[in-house]
Parts: sequence; structure tokens; C-alpha cells
Amino acid sequence: MHRILIVEDSTPLAEALERTLALEGHHVLLATRAQEALARAKHEPPDLVVLDLGLPDRDGYHVLRELRGRGEECPVLILSARSLESDKVEGFRLGADDYVTKPFGALELMARISALLRRARRGAATGALPQGSMRPLADDELRARYGLTARQITVARLVAEGCTNAEIASRLGLSFFTVRNHAEQMMAKLQVSNRSAVAPLLLEPM
Ligand code: CA
Repeated sequence: MHRILIVEDSTPLAEALERTLALEGHHVLLATRAQEALARAKHEPPDLVVLDLGLPDRDGYHVLRELRGRGEECPVLILSARSLESDKVEGFRLGADDYVTKPFGALELMARISALLRRARRGAATGALPQGSMRPLADDELRARYGLTARQITVARLVAEGCTNAEIASRLGLSFFTVRNHAEQMMAKLQVSNRSAVAPLLLEPM
């Protein structure tokens, strides 16, 4: 179960999201204004924030800037009717992890939320290693050790973060099939058949 803060001033939408996320077993906090969102996040730190941009007091960018300024690193998914590229770029620049435009498909939104939570968990798991015990291998070490190409190294690092092939394709601007080929070749060189086996091979004891 994760604690998810929904910052959304449209009550019907907020309640629909709350119902859907609660069905998935999450604990949902609601805030309809920017100040309320910042206060809630301070007292009950969320695992993920779904953030609307158009709020009655300050906009969602303000919330995001404040959260990141406080060192709050949980994933933030912006959910907004603003679909301009400049809005998205501003959101990512301020530290958002994903951006979904309204109207949106509920299934896609839930899949994106799950992916962000999964990635955050992987990151936390890596961060939980005893300090100094493992270090990430550099690109040239991965090339020498496994014979990976530059592209396969990029794909391997994203697989290690928990990204799916579709997510990697959209991040790198490649087709799904190209990414699938790179991922298959990379895993063959690493001699693993399971994606979760990739991450440990990119690390080495210090
Ligand atoms: Ca709004």
C-alpha cells in the first residue's frame, strides 16, 4: 500500500481518482488547494503526488517547486488540461516525473502511477544498500566486461531502473521493436533471462 496525495480542485475528478486508487489498495489523501497540498505533504509525506496545475490559490508548479525545494523526492505526476509542450517542459524542469494530459484514460494513468512507484521502490532499494558497499559500473567497464554497445548500456540502465520496453521507447524516441531488440541482445550478453537480474550486474562491490 502506498500513500498517494491527489492535488485536484475538481471534486468529481478527485473523488473518481480516489476511488480508483483505493481499489488498487492505496491510501489516498486529497487536497484542493496548493497551500493545503503543501501542508498535507509535510505532515503525511506521500509516496507519490498526482498534481493538477490549475488550482484556485497558487498553481501546481508552485507546489512542485516547494516540494523539491524541501528535498521531497517522491515521484510527482502532473495531471493537467494544459497540453502545450512548454507546459510539459516546465513541469519536467521543476522536477516532475511524468505528465499526463486531460482528458486521460484511467487505465493508462494507473499504469503510469504503478511504474513510478515501482521505479521509486527500486531506487530506494539501491539507496538502502550499506553505504559504500557497491558501486555502479561505468560505461567503459560495461563495454569491456559484457561487450555492450552504447545503446545497449543505456537500455540496460533503464531496465535496471524498472522501465518497460514501451517506457524506454518513449524516453529514447525509439520504436518499441528497436528497444525490444536492444533489450534482448543486451540480456543475451549479460546471460540473464529475467529483467530483474539486470540491475545487480551493473554494480560491483567496492
Ligand atoms: Ca484544476
